[in-house]
Amino acid sequence: MSDAADGDTPIMPAHPAPRRSRQARVTWGQRVVTVGGDAPVRVQSMTNTDTVDAIGTAIQVKELAQAGSELVRITVNTPEAAEAVPAIRDQLDRMGIDVPLIGDFHYNGHRLLTDFPSCAQALSKYRINPGNVGKGDKRDRQFALMVEAAARHDKAVRIGVNWGSLDQELLASLMDRNAGRRVPWDAKQVMYQALVESALQSADWARELGLDPNQIIISCKVSGVQDLITVYQALASRCDYALHLGLTEAGMGTKGTVASAVSLGHLLQQGIGDTIRVSLTPQPGEARTQEVVVALEILQALGLRSFNPSVTACPGCGRTTSTTFQELAKQIDDHLRAMMPSWRERYPGVETMKVAVMGCIVNGPGESKHADIGISLPGTGEAPAAPVYIDGEKALTLRGDGIAADFFRLVEDYIERRFGSVTSGH
Ligand code: SF4
Repeated sequence: MSDAADGDTPIMPAHPAPRRSRQARVTWGQRVVTVGGDAPVRVQSMTNTDTVDAIGTAIQVKELAQAGSELVRITVNTPEAAEAVPAIRDQLDRMGIDVPLIGDFHYNGHRLLTDFPSCAQALSKYRINPGNVGKGDKRDRQFALMVEAAARHDKAVRIGVNWGSLDQELLASLMDRNAGRRVPWDAKQVMYQALVESALQSADWARELGLDPNQIIISCKVSGVQDLITVYQALASRCDYALHLGLTEAGMGTKGTVASAVSLGHLLQQGIGDTIRVSLTPQPGEARTQEVVVALEILQALGLRSFNPSVTACPGCGRTTSTTFQELAKQIDDHLRAMMPSWRERYPGVETMKVAVMGCIVNGPGESKHADIGISLPGTGEAPAAPVYIDGEKALTLRGDGIAADFFRLVEDYIERRFGSVTSGH
């Protein structure tokens, strides 16, 4: 029996494959956000305010940026919106928010970018949808005007194809060609081809018009998980442009979160995707920043980036009749997230910390040992004692009514000791 057959070979840990895209730069002032190549996978988001409301939009951009969005897209759909863009940029600069702004253009982008040069200048990237730039001769002229504006102002562009607004002339010509095949392709395969061709032909054309390939980012968004994976695998095999990844119209709540995580996670694991956006429909009362929270969690879950300390908690079961461990896990998670804006500077590396909060002794001590600091709370019928593990070793046992508060203090002491010493030079 071979080593492989009897299981006596090391099992190698999975890693996301390296990305192979070229690098683009999206800049505002001194702020340079590199996209693609060996840059971290970037998080992008989009406002849902009326862009004409410059203050309201600036506030939401600030919230998205503070939640972790490294690029924020805003709608630029009317002359009034184009006029508001420099005011939004000014307001952000006054608030010390240097996140680059992306303008989302459809139908009239050529006019807005030409008629409002201060808008064109205040934006850091233009999103151009090849399916929505016009028809026939107009399409070519209007696309060229947008690309020329990007070249003139030295801005990046995203050629953003979407199956909801696919270039109908291109689709029709590919359908005609398909009809002539001896064995025609499935209609869906022609649609995939149209998405990829629309993006690549537009990128080629943008280069002919004077854009550097490093100014071009591409996306081909669809709303089905398998469709997205199929299209991006094809796209990545045919070009080395930086790719923006996202499931369009992902939906609300759990459905949108899961669909985005599954599709983006699958592609990122293959080394496909340089920026991501999670297009969640906010539930009533839900903050717009939720889409950023989900995007960060996807990257962190894959081990691609670290943003916040992670709290591992067991789901609980019939061995736990109290909600103490759930409450403690939530309190700690909330506290760590709330503190991160100030801790990031004060405790460099704290974002990689792992905390475990477990409900009983079945998996509690084991999981706690894998964490930097972990607690195993007493399950039903167990002695009222909670062993705490620090750096893989049992450190102490907490007892009494104040277990939660005591553990809280231990976590803060651990952070100070382990991560605080970096800045204090101990
Ligand atoms: S650790 Fe204990 S309480 Fe938590 S799920 Fe496992 S058996 Fe249940």
